Amino acid sequence: MELLSARLAALSPSETFAMAQKSNELKAQGIDVINMSVGEPDFTTPEHIKQAAKKAIDNNFSFYSPVPGFPDLKKAICDKLKNENGLDYSPAQIVVSCGAKQSICNVILSIVDKEEEVIIPAPFWVSYPEMVKLAEGKSVFVYAGIDKDFKITPQQLEEAITPKTKALILCSPSNPTGSVYTKQEIKALSDVLEKHKNVYVIADEIYEHINYIGKHESIAQFDSIRDRVVVVNGVSKGYAMTGWRIGWIAAPQWIASACSMLQGGQYTSGASSISQKAAEAAYTGDQTCVDEMRKAFERRRNLIVALLEQIAGLKVNKPMGGHFIFSPECSSYFGKSYNGRTVKTSSDLAMYLLEEAHVACVGGGDAFGAPGCIRLSYAISDENITKAVARIKVALEKLS
Ligand code: PLP
Repeated sequence: MELLSARLAALSPSETFAMAQKSNELKAQGIDVINMSVGEPDFTTPEHIKQAAKKAIDNNFSFYSPVPGFPDLKKAICDKLKNENGLDYSPAQIVVSCGAKQSICNVILSIVDKEEEVIIPAPFWVSYPEMVKLAEGKSVFVYAGIDKDFKITPQQLEEAITPKTKALILCSPSNPTGSVYTKQEIKALSDVLEKHKNVYVIADEIYEHINYIGKHESIAQFDSIRDRVVVVNGVSKGYAMTGWRIGWIAAPQWIASACSMLQGGQYTSGASSISQKAAEAAYTGDQTCVDEMRKAFERRRNLIVALLEQIAGLKVNKPMGGHFIFSPECSSYFGKSYNGRTVKTSSDLAMYLLEEAHVACVGGGDAFGAPGCIRLSYAISDENITKAVARIKVALEKLS
């Protein structure tokens, strides 16, 4: 008999992982599946970072690490924030965790109380609402469609704020949409927040380094709201280190202390000592690798946009960061059938594409709050991008 807690029973399984699982099953049957469903760079961790980890093992970095992170790593993060983002933080304001995911969850659990509202621009990263559920808070979705480049306006933000609002989660560059807020757009949102002194911002900047508009803009740059902003970042995406599990926050002191207390006092303790040494090398070492990966993603972005634009039934939006394209806006296929199977939703379409085209992607509805879209990751080779889109085109043309 299953006796899950109500807290657990309320959580939804991740559709992203469900698609990955299904595609692995097909692969196990010998089918050549192109996986565009998973959210991680396909590059391997740069050599100098791996060397630093090997050295840490040889130097016996094998003991419990300080809960909020090694001082050297926290200093490297402060230097990064200063040099790359023009932001002043002290090491005491940094908390290192097991990935940005844990960082975000720490913050939500630290500041959101029962029934308090968290504004989540939709389309959103699948984990935000689930984390809010864990905190017994309430997600308030603010939708921005393809016509708005998937970015919310200051007016929408203003309208969504109530006396119960505790936080806004702002993800730029965004997963799933790839949209990037410009400095003016972020400033306009910060102007709204300036008036609402009880609203905090969780700025998820994990895709900072995969950005095609040039400079990354953080909402923490605006002094008037700075004491209410928590920057979340990490090495997973920009340095191809998803498996090392290092993320961090730069936060007002009291939030940093709370997250450290939650993480260390009662929950997971400090992040892996070896991974922290690797992350330190990532931030202090040569940054050429970051630029090379970014350029490769940009080339692939250009390729996938050009190919998808040739499919008449799709509306395509050009992502400006990250490694996902979210707009095949595919609702023109809803209601169409092939072989006795009718596609009613984007999840149906994702399953149809997996089974008919052997391309794994994720439907936008349940996972990301945007039912008309599907998400494709282009963190795969140019050759596979070309092959995958050709297969998608053939499969879509069969629907009538
Ligand atoms: N935030 C967003 C928007 C993400 O897409 C992801 C990972 O997919 C994370 C946070 C979590 O990053 P990490 O692997 O460092 O936990």
